[in-house]
Amino acid sequence: MGGLPFIAGNWKMNKTVAEACDLVRELKVAIAGIEGVEVAIAPPFTALYAVHQELQGSAIHLAAQNLFWEGKGAYTGEVSPAMLKEAGCRYVIIGHSERRQFFGETDEMVNRRMKAALGLGLKPIFCIGETLREREEGKTFSVIERQVEGGLRDLGETEMKSVVVAYEPVWAIGTGKTATPQQAEEVHRFIRERIERIYSRQIAEEVRIQYGGSVTPENIKGLMDQRDIDGALVGGASLKSETFAKIVRFKEM
Ligand code: PEP
Repeated sequence: MGGLPFIAGNWKMNKTVAEACDLVRELKVAIAGIEGVEVAIAPPFTALYAVHQELQGSAIHLAAQNLFWEGKGAYTGEVSPAMLKEAGCRYVIIGHSERRQFFGETDEMVNRRMKAALGLGLKPIFCIGETLREREEGKTFSVIERQVEGGLRDLGETEMKSVVVAYEPVWAIGTGKTATPQQAEEVHRFIRERIERIYSRQIAEEVRIQYGGSVTPENIKGLMDQRDIDGALVGGASLKSETFAKIVRFKEM
């Protein structure tokens, strides 16, 4: 629904600088000439600048996997929005479920990161999604609603135009269990409706909502055929140029 389909690869804590550059070189060949789809990759922090150099002249965009909301100072181990901009990033993944699960990220922290990213012109890939337990307890929609409202708190219409939402059911991440296209579509539609309530019909129609969770070359087409699914955030399958390129080329299937 929301404009150009957007496929992004989240490499998580994988690839050294040398490995990252090798993968990018392969990827540039594998998706050369593709049109009508936007592509981004999110290597670890250490590889960002080298990958940025490799991407010169390519249409592939660079994304980071997180950022800190402060501009600079005594925050050992953190990386600022300006550092990511300078390293060549256009996008930044915020609120990934692994950050929420393993690093205690709350909706409030996610919201601070969103504001910091937008303040420096970085486009957030804002991740939300329910756990298996929450789904089984019938809480999917209330969890999504809380995450949407908390993560987007106080963001204006103009800022919202730079946000990409990624619906990633936690039970589908890295598990090989994908949500069915219908399960995903149901939640995507709900997210769009919430965004319409907070902003406007136009903003809701324009926002791109990616699906994430065990996306493969085999299931991408069925997902992308859904009205409210505008792209994918791909983990495991983005670590090999062949599988990621097949996902990016979903229109050719
Ligand atoms: C992710 O980490 O965002 C993700 C969706 O991972 P995977 O594709 O491996 O499930």
